[in-house]
Amino acid sequence: MYNIELIREDFPILSREVYGKPLVYLDNGATTQKPRCVVEAITNEYYSVNANVHRGVHFLSQQATELHEASRETVRRFINARSTNEIIFTRGTTESINLLASSFAESQMQAGDEVIVSTMEHHSDIVPWQLQAAKRGIVIKVIPMNDKGELLQDAYKQLFSEKTKLVCVMHVSNVLGTVNPVKEMIAEAHAHGVPVLVDGAQSVPHMKVDVQDLDADFFAFSGHKVYGPTGVGVLYGKEEWLDKLPPYQGGGEMIQSVSFEKTTFNELPFKFEAGTPDYIGTTALAKALDYVTAIGMDQIAAHEHELTQYAMQRLKQIEGMRIFGEAEHKSSVISFLVGNIHHLDMGTLLDRLGIAVRTGHHCAQPLMQRLGIEGTVRASFGLYNTKEEIDILAAGIERVSRMF
Ligand code: PLP
Repeated sequence: MYNIELIREDFPILSREVYGKPLVYLDNGATTQKPRCVVEAITNEYYSVNANVHRGVHFLSQQATELHEASRETVRRFINARSTNEIIFTRGTTESINLLASSFAESQMQAGDEVIVSTMEHHSDIVPWQLQAAKRGIVIKVIPMNDKGELLQDAYKQLFSEKTKLVCVMHVSNVLGTVNPVKEMIAEAHAHGVPVLVDGAQSVPHMKVDVQDLDADFFAFSGHKVYGPTGVGVLYGKEEWLDKLPPYQGGGEMIQSVSFEKTTFNELPFKFEAGTPDYIGTTALAKALDYVTAIGMDQIAAHEHELTQYAMQRLKQIEGMRIFGEAEHKSSVISFLVGNIHHLDMGTLLDRLGIAVRTGHHCAQPLMQRLGIEGTVRASFGLYNTKEEIDILAAGIERVSRMF
């Protein structure tokens, strides 16, 4: 039984008001709210354990290290990696992708080599490669999509050449909600001997992810989008790949020995974790993953699927409604425009009704160009949202529409 009332009680912020109206929080694609257990994990650790990890012989340092490394094991289990050596803690998806782009391009790519990305990518899957392109002369190729917001698989297959070194593709679009067939896309890339980096920022919060089943070579996600704290994220990489790649940043923790003549690097995963990690954040992230696991990722997916179906059908009844993203496999994100109402006006007026949605280009300007628009209004649902909230959204949109 999916007990939505009990679940909502875990999130104190959901019962607050804005502008005297009950908060309807539909900006989960940007960040999710935190259950009490996650916030308590942060305060508890600061109050009773806090000490730097991996460095101290003293009791607190050892306890903090145990918590930090237990969190790595929780992440490993959550995405079904083979080993904790494959779990690198970062600041989030963006840093995970930058780490990989920098380290992979430096060691595996030369001028003229190609990386394949898709039309719908988030800027964090595009700009790191453009930085590498400017530095090393690598070439970016783009998978096109159809008007429903699905990547064209035949065109994708045509993009491979002997120069292709990596595919970087999002699992779920933060704008269209499209669930890309990454398992099949990975198999295709592997048939060409090419590894794949999957941006899982928008999939990990909404569905069960198994990196071994996907056979992903690299997989990135952010803690704050999966009910965890800000400032902590994960880069998963197959051990055989991570072993081959050079460090991203230098500093403490990532070394074995340092002299002015020669430095040797630490083993995995520490080779990629220079400096003091956010060990409080990793504990809280593990709490968040335990929390969603206890509810059940399949149950969360089913609840959100029902909400999305309901919202699609409800919003389509609104006059002048244009929905962007009608892929067959769609996650709980709905981007829309109504008539010629500017997305910013719609978002601002919905906000006055207590409804938090996102407006703008959603860090996907190339996708906006493909759609021929500047931006959209985006409602994105999480595990605690309800059909009543969707009714409030629909009534809010209708009310704003009438004002124009
Ligand atoms: N990739 C996708 C698909 C996203 O939706 C986001 C955030 O909106 C990111 C990457 C970047 O995540 P972060 O800002 O947590 O690094």
